[in-house]
This record gives sequence, structure tokens and C-alpha cells, in this order.
Amino acid sequence: MKNIAVIGAGTMGNGIAHVFAQSGYSVTLIDLSKEALDRALGTITKNLDRQLAKEKIAQEDKDATLSRITLNSSLESGITGADLIIEAATENTNLKLKIFKQLDELADEGTILATNTSSISITQIAAVTNRADKVIGMHFMNPVPIMKLVEIIRGYSTSDKVTDSIMDLSKSLGKSPVEVNDYPGFVANRILMPMINEAICTLHEGVAGVEEIDTVMKLGMAHPMGPLQLADFIGLDVCLAILEVLYDGFGNPKYAPCPLLVNMVTAGKKGVKSGEGFYSWGHGTKDLILADKFKK
Ligand code: NAD
Repeated sequence: MKNIAVIGAGTMGNGIAHVFAQSGYSVTLIDLSKEALDRALGTITKNLDRQLAKEKIAQEDKDATLSRITLNSSLESGITGADLIIEAATENTNLKLKIFKQLDELADEGTILATNTSSISITQIAAVTNRADKVIGMHFMNPVPIMKLVEIIRGYSTSDKVTDSIMDLSKSLGKSPVEVNDYPGFVANRILMPMINEAICTLHEGVAGVEEIDTVMKLGMAHPMGPLQLADFIGLDVCLAILEVLYDGFGNPKYAPCPLLVNMVTAGKKGVKSGEGFYSWGHGTKDLILADKFKK
């Protein structure tokens, strides 16, 4: 596999494009929004500059990486000649089903179709295509250039051959892939999201404030960041979408999203990407500053 197309240039898409291009693959990054594409290229450049400043890469590596990335706002022309297409668009089942139907019609017969979904059924996505054996979950973690794990999710009909080739491909990026089966939330989010949701409920019920909850989990459990800060990084809209998939998929009330999370997403407070969540972002400093709403 040489040519990779990435659909969606948001938080995850830019990171996925970055790691593939840095490992020598040609990447076309596709998004409907021209603004998202420009922002993604800006983020990739900034992240490469950071690697350069830490002397992890040389100037030639940065230039070569950027030269392997092409931006495209058309799905049809963007996926031409791709050996692998990785969909990293918004976490919405209907949107993903629509994209995969289109991809199945447009992509070459042998092209593998992967999704970076955090929780949506790979089997359900594969079922709208005529190549269910070549549809697979490739769940990168955020931030993609730093996090080693890729959760590789086999749908009901994903073939051994496709699974093996995606496991090998992930290793070629310097990642550590782990193979799992297709059930709601897979492994990562089935365990992580109930913890984040419980942290939000703990805040909602007034048991403790944002900083206290995050400090307990950081210092008490040796987590590198607290669950509320992590939720801001993931995107509160993404967290809510994943909890809804868990709730629908298992029919168990323990996955019901906390009303505070629902309210925050409805109010447009999505965390880092919108400038405010539990903390305030975009103030240009490295300080962790509480959002006004959660100041005491
Ligand atoms: P995001 O909201 O930051 O970006 C999504 C991008 O998709 C946007 O730029 C949007 O313009 C684009 N898009 C929407 N519809 C499109 C279409 N039809 N064609 C092309 N582009 C389209 O979302 P994100 O956080 O990057 O999440 C993307 C996927 O990755 C989701 O499935 C999410 O669950 C998964 N994921 C997210 C994280 C995380 O920490 N944010 C971690 C792992 C996996």
C-alpha cells in the first residue's frame, strides 16, 4: 500500500495524514470544508515544527512529509488511485453509512475501506458495501502522532488477509496495533467513556469541582491528565456520540449520558475545538484555566 486517502480533516484526520506522510506514504486529505483543510495543514506544520525543535526530525523530514500531503475537497477525485481509504469524518452513523456507500461505488475493487470511528459498528458500516470482507476499523488515538495504540476492529465479515495487512501497515507507522472484535465501543471507549461520564456526573451532583476531580484521578490513579481535561481534548460532542452508541447498543442505563454533558454540547461547549468545555482554551498559554461556568 502506497497511496492513502483520509476523509475528514478534523482533530483526527490531520494526525492520521501526518503519521502516514511521515512514514513515506502519499496522502490525500479530503474534507468538504476548505477551512478545515487549511486548518489541518496548519496543525500538521505546527506539529512538525515542534518535532523539529525537539530534534526528533530534520528539516528535510519536515519538507518531505509536507510534500507527500495533498488537500482535496472532492471525495470523488480525492480517492482516485487510493490503496486504502481511512474515513475520519464526524461521529455520526448516518453520515458514515452514506460515505461508505459512496466509497464502495467509487473506489477500486481491491481498495480497503477503514474507519476511525470511536464506537459505531464496523459490521453495520460494512453491510452497506459490497465488500464487507475489506471493511475494517482502524481506531487511532488522539493525538495521533504521539499515541502508540491503534485499535484494529474486525467486523463480522472482515477477512483474515485484510486484518493481517492492516496490522502490518500499522506497525510500519511505528504504532502498536491491537486486534479486537466488533461490539459497541470496542475495548478503548467501552472502558474510557463510562469513566468520563461518571466524572461529569460527579461534577454535576456537586461532589467536587473540575480541578478536584481531575486532581484525584491524576495523583491518585497516575493518569497523565484528569478525565474532564481528557474529555475536552477528545471533544464533548464526540464523547456524547460514543455514549449514545453504548447506550443504544447495550440497552443498559449505566451508559446514559450525564445531563450536564448533553447540556454543554447543546450549548456549543465542545472542549478544545470550540474554545470552551470544562476548561477555557485558546488563551495562548499552557496554563490550565477553568471555564467561567466552573469557577467557584
Ligand atoms: P472533528 O469534528 O474534529 O472532524 C470531523 C471532520 O469531518 C470535520 O472537519 C468535517 O468537516 C469533516 N466531514 C464531515 N462530513 C464529511 C464528509 N461527508 N466528507 C468529508 N469530510 C467530512 O472530528 P474528530 O474528533 O476528528 O473525529 C473524527 C472521527 O474520529 C470520529 O469518528 C471520531 O469518533 C473518531 N475519533 C475521535 C477521537 C478524538 O479524540 N477526537 C479519537 C479517536 C477516534
